[in-house]
Amino acid sequence: MRIERANMVKPHPPPVLCQLVEGRQVESVERRGKNILLGLSGMGLLHVHLGMTGNLFVIPDVRFRCLSARIWFELDDGKGLIFEDPRTLGRLRFYHRQEASGLLAELGVEPLSDQFTLSRFVELARSSRQPAKIFLMDQRRIAGLGNIYAAEALFRARMDPRKSLSRVSRKKLAALHQAIVEVLNQAVECAVKAYAKPGVFQEAEEFPCQVYAREGKPCLRCGHSIRRIHQGGRSTYFCPACQR
Ligand SMILES: [Zn+2]
Repeated sequence: MRIERANMVKPHPPPVLCQLVEGRQVESVERRGKNILLGLSGMGLLHVHLGMTGNLFVIPDVRFRCLSARIWFELDDGKGLIFEDPRTLGRLRFYHRQEASGLLAELGVEPLSDQFTLSRFVELARSSRQPAKIFLMDQRRIAGLGNIYAAEALFRARMDPRKSLSRVSRKKLAALHQAIVEVLNQAVECAVKAYAKPGVFQEAEEFPCQVYAREGKPCLRCGHSIRRIHQGGRSTYFCPACQR
């Protein structure tokens, strides 16, 4: 294992982490919310969070890794497991499996699972007074929605990101529930296409945003200017005319 950016593995000192991981086998790969979990032999677990610009993939020969490879593992057969991240906002940590179960227990429902029913969503929405956008990004309630997909889902469902969902009608919540599932399924499709291409991850297959990062541009639905506000330290993009 090589670590080019120590800040991505905090609080582990890089040499300690390398020693913990060296020689272990990857026994399982799982995802929970935005977390990727690599189960290692000897009850170890690598927890990877890709942040905004991170990617994790295997290449045929570790020597031909890209320049933005911040952390990489040389595998037995010469292949490389690459954690690439231009902005270095991603994180990688080592846990003993018991420690990790506590961390994951705090995560909410998986939005693409059978557990994410309309009834469950309505129940969650009604119990929160947070603005809709903050609620959607709260990983303890729904695990996996980030800034972009939360904004896109609210746009599709024509809902104001500033308003709480606690008093919204079941019909409107049903539209938002459907929008969340649609947006995430589309995002997965884009990612599958991008990873299926030869070579490294292709930025070209990015999710086609309808509202995110379109400040000042005309709304694709009604033509009104898209607005940007700050919510919870992040930018929220929305159309003040058709998202109510
Ligand atoms: Zn609009």
